[in-house]
Amino acid sequence: MSCDVPRYLVPFHPKRIPHHFADVLIIGGGIAGLRAAMEIDPRLSLLVITKDAMEQSNSAFAQGGIASVIDPEDNFASHVEDTLAAGANLCDREVVEMVVREAPQHIRQLIDWGTNFDTEHGELMLGREGGHSHRRIVHALGDATGHEVMRAMIQRARSTLDAQIWPNTFTIDLLTHEGRCRGALVWHAQHGRTFVWAKQTILCTGGAGQIYRETTNPEVATGDGVALAYRAGAEVRDMEFMQFHPTVLYIAGGSRSLITEAMRGEGARLIDSTGRRFMPDYDERAELAPRDVVSHAIVAQMEKTRQPSVFLNLSHLDPERVRKRFPGIARTCAEFGIDIATDPIPVRPGAHYMIGGVAVDHGGQTTLPGLWAAGEVTASGLHGANRLASNSLLEGLVYGAHAGAGASAAAHAETDSFRAIPLENAPAEPHDEPLDLADIRNSLKSLMWRASGVRRHGQQLADAAQTIRRWCGYVLSRQLADPQGWELQNMLTIAGLMVESALEREESRGVHLRTDFPQADDEHWRRHLTVVRRE
Ligand SMILES: Cc1cc2nc3c(=O)[nH]c(=O)nc-3n(C[C@H](O)[C@H](O)[C@H](O)COP(=O)(O)OP(=O)(O)OC[C@H]3O[C@@H](n4cnc5c(N)ncnc54)[C@H](O)[C@@H]3O)c2cc1C
Repeated sequence: MSCDVPRYLVPFHPKRIPHHFADVLIIGGGIAGLRAAMEIDPRLSLLVITKDAMEQSNSAFAQGGIASVIDPEDNFASHVEDTLAAGANLCDREVVEMVVREAPQHIRQLIDWGTNFDTEHGELMLGREGGHSHRRIVHALGDATGHEVMRAMIQRARSTLDAQIWPNTFTIDLLTHEGRCRGALVWHAQHGRTFVWAKQTILCTGGAGQIYRETTNPEVATGDGVALAYRAGAEVRDMEFMQFHPTVLYIAGGSRSLITEAMRGEGARLIDSTGRRFMPDYDERAELAPRDVVSHAIVAQMEKTRQPSVFLNLSHLDPERVRKRFPGIARTCAEFGIDIATDPIPVRPGAHYMIGGVAVDHGGQTTLPGLWAAGEVTASGLHGANRLASNSLLEGLVYGAHAGAGASAAAHAETDSFRAIPLENAPAEPHDEPLDLADIRNSLKSLMWRASGVRRHGQQLADAAQTIRRWCGYVLSRQLADPQGWELQNMLTIAGLMVESALEREESRGVHLRTDFPQADDEHWRRHLTVVRRE
């Protein structure tokens, strides 16, 4: 990135800071972090850190479900082909095959751990979502899969793991020495800044939807993990690919709730403000086309009709079945006077899933020795240039398990030392002028939405890159004192990486739509863009 990103955000000295020792440190307690935790040998000491309450994560918000070949009529080859087709020639086929084949065992395991998936006549109910050619989405509580899966996983973690869990603890930076990750510098409500020395560290910090004005992601999703891995020297890649969910509830003053893809799978149609069904004009798969196609079509139709949204219409379906299948969405919409079974639901795209992230190999190992990663914080090669619906909880399970097993084995192989490394970061020059952090945060979110949203253009991206560089210049050079400030510094860092990668990729592929380069260009761009911070 062309602006200066400091190695550490805050000053510290080893004689003036508490120290904590663990064999394995897991940063993040969503599906990837908890799945990793289940793999850590109980003889090792394990510390799990989450920046908010354990219950606050993208995982807990997941609605539609988890993709897995369960139906005897379905097969692995079909799930693989669907994933590759959505990924627009950028998936790693070996990774896709590995994840798809491991999926059924993870579903069985979740059931064994107490997850109550929806069933019909004693069999798992299987939903269908855009881009899938079979019904293969297991779901729970209708449209609250993440809530149920995380309930069961948190309960299992609390009852079976001999781990320390520190909620409400912000990871500021990864600690590195002699080319290895040695743990993290965290901010703990009681002990303040603390060194956590760990033999192995697993990063499971989730996504970054919060850097956009319109997003489905909860407050915790500010991309901290990518920023702190980047500062520590790990390779980051595919940052130009941010997936926008096509159908986010758009009611002034209301929360930007996601309207699950499963609704289109059950037959919901997209209509514009004139009541016209428009998806067949854009793609023969109509409402079941992959997310990027549907998002692009909605934005085009909003421009054509000069309206701030389009609508989902279910009025041609059985009203009782609709309300029963989507109870959560029905409740939310009812609060705004909308009956989902009879009224059109206003929707537009919103930032949803960070496809790019910290590069990992099949085992979840990053390019920085001692650092592993799993889940949405990573770029594993599964999603290519566009994630297929319901493949991400699955990725968190598969890579969480791999990273956990790998980190556990590596930690076992290391002897205990209980020695702090004399790392030090000097205080920066004090600044007189206070910063309005909330103002910069809001400006950044609006800028990202305008310049690096569903459609991008070279000139807008270049202007945005320059603005972000200017903001980085005076925000990253300060040593701020609390999580709100560190979050903003992380958001600026990854916004810079995203915009510069989007500017560099002069083609349209998957979720990355450049209006000045509308075609895919396999000859030059069928490759990943990687970035590493240089000292
Ligand atoms: C509304 C919504 C619906 C979705 N529906 C589906 C679906 O149906 N199917 C599907 O497959 N995917 C779905 N997704 C995507 C999926 O939920 C996520 O990709 C997945 O849950 C990510 O899991 P994770 O464990 O990587 O991260 P998360 O679940 O986001 O967990 C991140 C963890 O990291 C912690 N953390 C972050 N930063 C720090 C820090 N600085 N210090 C300490 N801790 C930190 C957080 O506190 C949290 O515990 C949906 C996402 C959303 C937002």
